[in-house]
Amino acid sequence: MIRVLVWNEYRHEKQQPAVADIYPGGIHRAIGEYLGESGGISVRYACLDDPEQGLSLDILDNTDVLVWWGHMAHGEVTDENVERVCRRVNAGMGLIALHSAHHSKVFRRLCGTSCNLKWRHGDRERLWTVVPSHPIALGVPEHFELEREEMYGEPFDIPTPDEVVFMGWFAGGEVFRSGVTYRRGAGRIFYFQPGHEEYPVYHNGNVLKIIGNAVRWAAPGENAAMIECTNPGALEV
Ligand code: ZN
Repeated sequence: MIRVLVWNEYRHEKQQPAVADIYPGGIHRAIGEYLGESGGISVRYACLDDPEQGLSLDILDNTDVLVWWGHMAHGEVTDENVERVCRRVNAGMGLIALHSAHHSKVFRRLCGTSCNLKWRHGDRERLWTVVPSHPIALGVPEHFELEREEMYGEPFDIPTPDEVVFMGWFAGGEVFRSGVTYRRGAGRIFYFQPGHEEYPVYHNGNVLKIIGNAVRWAAPGENAAMIECTNPGALEV
């Protein structure tokens, strides 16, 4: 079983009734319930207001893949917890950063850039699968549409990705690298753009399938470990 922790700051759902109507149990539940029913994945949930912000050493040490949704409270995540998460990624934990997590402290730290982008509310998006042979694209059509989504547009200030698996096109004319992968240390990272809280994006079957595929892709192998700095003697003299 892949041990997944779905972490959500869980503030919009508590403060905006329109968001709660779309996600009565929170965005984390909508994603986690799909993952839990998809086979081979055990799901736990954590939220910003949990003890230790849901990111205790014990929880992280027992997490294979962390799914992260945050937006309005990025600044409240403690630097200590950011350090914990980044260390775990370097040691092999997978990270799936969703939508506005592009500006999370964790994702920015792992990228090393501003992760700034263009944005505009309420646009139709067509997502294109540009690497159909990629494991994250398994069973995903060549393109599909989200009738309402927040436009995220280029330039997106990220380091050049290892792979661009999905591209987004918006009815307003912009394009975006909507699904990108990185490796950091022993860890695998997938950033996926869809998921603005005001639209029912995490009820879309293709979006959920991509997140599930990404979890399986990002799960660490048995030999995943942090590479330590050592000072060995010479093998030959
Ligand atoms: Zn948004």
